[in-house]
Formats: sequence, C-alpha cells, structure tokens
Amino acid sequence: MTIEQIYRLFLSNPRIETDSRKIGGGDIFFALKGEKFNGNQFASEALKRGAVCAFIDEKEFHRPGKTVLVENVLKTLQDLAHFHRKQLNLPIVAITGSNGKTTTKELIASVLASRYRVFATEGNLNNHIGVPLTLLQMDKTTEIGVVEMGANHPGEIGELCSIADPDFGIITNIGRAHLEGFGSFETIKKTKAELFHHLKKKKGIIFYNIENPVLTQLVDDYPGRVSFGEKNADFIGEPVLSPPFIHARVNFPKGALYLNTQLTGRYNFENVLAAACIGHYFKVDPLDIQAAIKKYHPQNNRSQLVEKRRVKIIMDAYNANPTSMQASIESFVSAFQSHRFLILGDMLELGCYSPAEHTAILEQIKKYTFDAVFLVGPLFSEAAKDYPFHTFPNSSELCQYLSQNPIKKGTVLVKGSRGIQLEKVLGFF
Ligand code: ATP
Ligand code: MG
Repeated sequence: MTIEQIYRLFLSNPRIETDSRKIGGGDIFFALKGEKFNGNQFASEALKRGAVCAFIDEKEFHRPGKTVLVENVLKTLQDLAHFHRKQLNLPIVAITGSNGKTTTKELIASVLASRYRVFATEGNLNNHIGVPLTLLQMDKTTEIGVVEMGANHPGEIGELCSIADPDFGIITNIGRAHLEGFGSFETIKKTKAELFHHLKKKKGIIFYNIENPVLTQLVDDYPGRVSFGEKNADFIGEPVLSPPFIHARVNFPKGALYLNTQLTGRYNFENVLAAACIGHYFKVDPLDIQAAIKKYHPQNNRSQLVEKRRVKIIMDAYNANPTSMQASIESFVSAFQSHRFLILGDMLELGCYSPAEHTAILEQIKKYTFDAVFLVGPLFSEAAKDYPFHTFPNSSELCQYLSQNPIKKGTVLVKGSRGIQLEKVLGFF
C-alpha cells in the first residue's frame, strides 16, 4: 500500500488504536512492538473486536484482506502522521526541554484555547509513538497543534521534528535529566537544540527564556527568536511569590496584569511566562490569558499543593532529576522559612553520574535548616552515610515510620523519581 492509499483508509476510519484491548468498531489497529510485547500477536484479537484492519510487520500473522503487511509498523504510523500533518494547514507549536514540558504545554494549550480550537498532546504522550498519535488526532477543525516532545537519547528530538514539522517551538530549559541515556550534558544540549535547528531551517519562531544562558547562546542572533524574561526581553514579567503559590506580574502593551496561578514552585514562573508570551504572540486577549492561567490546576503530583489538617504538602513527586530537584529545594526554602520538612526520593536514570549528583543534593540541603530530612531509596541511603539525615530503603518503610512518628504541623516538600513512589506517603499525614 502506498502512503496515499493508507491515508485514504485513515480518512474514512480516522481512529487509530495501538492497544488491542481498547479497540472499538471501525478503528485501525497498528501492531507495535515493545520490549515486553509484540503487537502482531494481538492483530487477530483486534480484528475480532471490530478493527477495520490491522497493520502488521510479521508475515506469520498476515490475513489477506484483513491485515496490511508492511515493513515496519512504527515507521508506517510515523509516515502516516507526517503525511496527515502536511495535509493539515495549521501551525504546530512544539515543546521540548529537560523540565517543565508538560506543565508548559498545558498552560500554553489553555491559553491558546481561549481563542482557537487547539489540540494538544494528552498527558505525557511525548515520544516516537505519542507524537504521531497526537498528530493523527488533529483534524480540519483544529486551528493550532501543541505537541510535547520528550527524549532520553540523542537524535530523538530531530526525529520527532521530522514527523511533526513544527513551525513554532520552545525549549523550556536544558538540564541534567536522563544522563544515563544521553551520556553527557553536552549531548543533552545537542539533542534539545535539534528543535531549534529544525525551526531555523524552515524560518520558524523559537520562544526562549532570556534568563537562561544556555538557551540565549543557542539562539544567538537568529531573527525568528522571541524572548521572555524579567528584563531586556521581548515579553517581560516578574515573579510574585505568594507562598505556597507562585504568581507573575506581566507587562502587556496596555498595562501590567497579575497572573495568579495554582502552581507551587518558583520554577513555574518561567513556565507561566512562556505560556503568556506565546498567548500574546498569537493575539490572545490579556484578560483571557489571565483567566486561562488562573484556572489551570496541575495534575499527577506535579507542583501540587495538598493540605492535610495542619500540614501543607508540596507534592512534586511526579519525577526528579538533579536540575529539577535543586530547583524544587531552592524554591521551597525561599518560600517557607520555618516548620519545614523534606522528603526526597532517589533520582533515577543518572548512570555513572548518580553518586556525585546525590551527594551534590545532600550538600545543597546541608546549607539550610529543616525540622527533619527523610531520604528514600538505595541511592540516597548510600550517599547519605556520613550525613545526619534519616534514610529509608523504600517508600513503604518511610510510611511505616510516619505512621508511628507523624508530622503534625508544618510544610513538607515531597520530591523524587516516579519509581520511588513517594506519593504513598500522602496517606500518612
Ligand atoms: P517528563 O520528562 O516526564 O515529560 P516534563 O518535562 O514534562 O517531564 P513536567 O511534568 O511539567 O515536566 O514537570 C515535572 C517536574 O519538573 C515538576 O514537578 C517540577 O518539579 C519540575 N519542573 C517543572 N518546570 C520546571 C522548570 N521550569 N525548571 C525546573 N524544574 C521544573
Ligand atoms: Mg512531560
């Protein structure tokens, strides 16, 4: 089948499904392969459940008339998504960076949605499968696409750009995340820069935080750059700390406006400013920008405030890497001066950098006073041998400790990689 034929099939059956258990009548099944599964094996089940056809790439599962045998199902999905994207005459805004992609994406989508019909990446579907699936959910009625792009290996952002072909982009920041897969900070920088190189080639627009020297150096004197920041930027705003939340005061041409948020963490200031800057660029009314940002509520333990009796919990345990953990701690200590507690979980995926990065966090927290510091996971436990902090091998042991020694009053920052499951502690306040 040529790509045009596949596209015609898609136009008459525009629902794509990669999970055979979720197939509904009329869906097209794409049999993807993962580390632990081979979608080809589920093609017949998908057909039984009502799929109009199944794309497969292993001959033995071929059922002429029902399955379409291609060389590589993933590549076919990506090619179809790219083909579709080219037919859609709409601007796509891509978001990459080490930290804050989803939060920034949600804020941008909320802001733009006050004026346009927006389709944005759902949740965190930001990889080589999520990006094509996102594009394939856009249709003729969509006016702007907002696409999150994640990477943990070199070259990935370039590949995602060649599929989604964005016209606008933002690199939220470049930090020390997924060091294991990237190998070094330089490679992380190079990979995130792939979005900028793509935009440069098509004379697109890059939005960037002027306060970030790595990004400023990257965009240099590119004419399509639009900066935001506290001063000397195209779009100017300043943070307004109002613990536990962070707000912003932003200069619009007709006057300054306060953008109130429901987000904790000083680092969210730049995410909010980015969204306001992009909204302003796309001519969204400042009052609509203000309303959109005010109503955005973070989800999934990202910078969320949870209140339990006399304890305020800053729940930030969705993920962690050295850059975001450092930012979370700095923001926490500047917002809360007393009755403060830390619950930190291991930062995963750091490879050989792991011991030094955990030690660096211990050195950072040593500079401040806390009512107590609880460290969870084998990496922190090993690194903290000579430090005066409580350590626990896993979150269940900490929960057990907290059930006997509850924190009765104060503010607690909870931050760690998802694998450490720090969200379990919520039941013990
Ligand atoms: P993932 O790589 O899992 O897709 P992400 O880049 O989409 O992550 P978010 O899910 O928005 O990031 O946020 C995850 C965490 O990153 C937040 O809970 C917060 O601790 C931290 N974070 C968010 N924004 C920033 C920022 N601008 N600078 C540093 N850390 C941030
Ligand atoms: Mg994300």
